[in-house]
Amino acid sequence: MIPVTSFAGHEVAVFGLGASGRSTCLALLAGGARVAAWDDGEAARTAAAAEGIHVVDLASADWSRFAVLVLAPGVPLTHPEPHWTVECAQEVGIEIIGDIELFFRERNRLAPNSQVVCITGTNGKSTTTALIAHTLEAGGAVVEMGGNIGVPVLDLALPDGARIHVLEMSTFQIDLTPSLAPTIGVLLNLSPDHLDRHGSMENYAAIKERLVASSQAAVISIDDPLSAAIAGRVAARGVWVSAISSRGVKPGVAPLFFDQNDRLNVLASDGTTTDVGSLDGIGSLRGRHNMQNALAALATASLALPGAPLSDHVAAFRSFPGLPHRMEEVGRKGKVLFINDSKATNADSTEKALTSWPRDIYWILGGLPKEGGITPLADCFPRVAKAYLIGKAVDEFARTLDGHVPYEHTGTIDKALAAAARDAAASGAPEPVVLLSPACASYDQFKSYGHRGDVFRALVAELIKEGG
Ligand code: ADP
Repeated sequence: MIPVTSFAGHEVAVFGLGASGRSTCLALLAGGARVAAWDDGEAARTAAAAEGIHVVDLASADWSRFAVLVLAPGVPLTHPEPHWTVECAQEVGIEIIGDIELFFRERNRLAPNSQVVCITGTNGKSTTTALIAHTLEAGGAVVEMGGNIGVPVLDLALPDGARIHVLEMSTFQIDLTPSLAPTIGVLLNLSPDHLDRHGSMENYAAIKERLVASSQAAVISIDDPLSAAIAGRVAARGVWVSAISSRGVKPGVAPLFFDQNDRLNVLASDGTTTDVGSLDGIGSLRGRHNMQNALAALATASLALPGAPLSDHVAAFRSFPGLPHRMEEVGRKGKVLFINDSKATNADSTEKALTSWPRDIYWILGGLPKEGGITPLADCFPRVAKAYLIGKAVDEFARTLDGHVPYEHTGTIDKALAAAARDAAASGAPEPVVLLSPACASYDQFKSYGHRGDVFRALVAELIKEGG
């Protein structure tokens, strides 16, 4: 834990008592602050009280006694409208910050030169964060990984000049971190997402830009126009920018980490190009999107560990286990490969999965459909041998697939898996893939995408054990 000393002797209001909110309260208490904490949910309040956190209804509290409001990420700061705690804080003129701000204040006090790598983007944040942490560890660094990826930042070990903190940051977290100043900032990509929570695309992109603009060195994709424009602006401010392109060389851009014929290449500022390896055969990094993630990890590792040969980092990618529910290999039975991509809750993400294999995909999909359903995936349909429909989306998706892809109304995930495994095994294909990539939210049949993926993984394990 990182005790937060910046509010020692003061009283702090904390709203949102999920894992990061509770961690914030304990870190503030350990650093000598008093805490008044609240959450709208009774279960969260009970969990906090059980950890010795002073739970107070902030709606009826006297806000003039608070020095600061620490907000959990996701609680609206501005859009669609400010949360009531934000209005209370603004009325008495106190700062509104998040736990990563508290982290940066401690780091600036304790070890201002300690390396902090922050990763953001619309897609691929968790994968890239985990891949960077894995690669730096393989290169001999002591790494503390957290933020938006599982472990709250204040639960990590103290910055001490030796450890490298690798932090995934959502837009909400950037917005709540005015002292944000990573040694390396990574921007993976930008596309419309959660705009209801961030106002306009311009506002969303401007928040993301702050992460790389405040960095000592930045790794920025130039594949999409918004990120490319940010790379140009940030470089013009004098920040070192390592650009990444998963679409080949871009004239006039160096240094550039780019993909050429499925190989990772580096174009140095002096104009020399080096081929540093490929992702061939790395199951955890299948698909075009993972080329972008790998290039970002390579560029970051080259900045964080400047002495190490780049080919060592690519070698480290080979032992990357991947993350659960994202194109996760959950088993093989005979020639059939089983993949859990339960995190794919929209057509965009599922497209990444479907384009990872040229053919012979036995596709399990459905759940609570999103607007537009799977119509944007029509170009991928020729890769699908058969589809197995589950959940509320069954009828809608059947209409989209009709005449293009054979399908079954299997209804539930267990029936879908049994049918897909049977058909894949009976096919003459050399390596058929049973792919759970639902393109839907999970809440009609499951608690979360994680729950859906866990159920699928357990069913596959059972199927393999049965051996039949
Ligand atoms: P995030 O943390 O940003 O939500 P994840 O690493 O958890 O991203 O990946 C979630 C999904 O996003 C993956 O299952 C994949 O479909 C897609 N994805 C991953 N990396 C990228 C990328 N670089 N570009 C576009 N989509 C991606």
